[in-house]
Amino acid sequence: MVDKQIVARGVTDAAVIQAMSSVPRHLFVSEALADSAYEDFPLPIGEGQTISQPYMVSEMTQALALKGGERVLEIGTGSGFQAAVLAHIVFRVYTIERNNTLFMRTRKLFDQLHYHNIVTRCGDGTLGWKDESPFDAIIVTAGGRIIPRPLLDQLAPGGRLIMPVGGLMSQELLLARKDRQGVVSIDNLGGCRFVKLIGQHGWKA
Ligand code: SAM
Repeated sequence: MVDKQIVARGVTDAAVIQAMSSVPRHLFVSEALADSAYEDFPLPIGEGQTISQPYMVSEMTQALALKGGERVLEIGTGSGFQAAVLAHIVFRVYTIERNNTLFMRTRKLFDQLHYHNIVTRCGDGTLGWKDESPFDAIIVTAGGRIIPRPLLDQLAPGGRLIMPVGGLMSQELLLARKDRQGVVSIDNLGGCRFVKLIGQHGWKA
């Protein structure tokens, strides 16, 4: 998976490659789908949600330009795979999932796999996690209409946020950078397709 889908497509960040090689992706999908866990596509994880394509996970992680000591906020825990990849790279991962069934299942999996630097919460991630802010990086793994204002406010100066933004059927992957003065600039990394971000600053359920 890592050689054919990730390195061959231009992912060069050694920490991302190492993390993608380390996380046992088959444990983050149902047993019935374990044989497909390392293939080049998203997979269903129940509750109408998906585990993202491995390449997308690595591209989004690389775009955050992580060095190792960061505190990162993820919106959309889902299967937990993205959070586990981040947990191999950074100091601490805070991850929020709105669906209680996925939240309970994934929290248990993090415990079983001893991911002690992942902190979980069930709720509306479009509001961020104010008490733990600011974050050095924020990753949103569901597609919204706009970048939620609370997430930009909770991004530390010098921080990066990546998120799919657009319509219900397709989005653009946007990378927001906040400079030391707090000014935000945005780059478009190209088209993508994610399930919808539901919440106060996202789509309606
Ligand atoms: N990062 C996940 C992984 O590695 O498996 C993939 C997540 S899936 C593409 C998107 C997830 O975002 C779903 O589990 C969905 O329930 C969740 N979600 C949607 N809106 C949300 C919100 N406002 N707050 C938190 N989670 C949300």
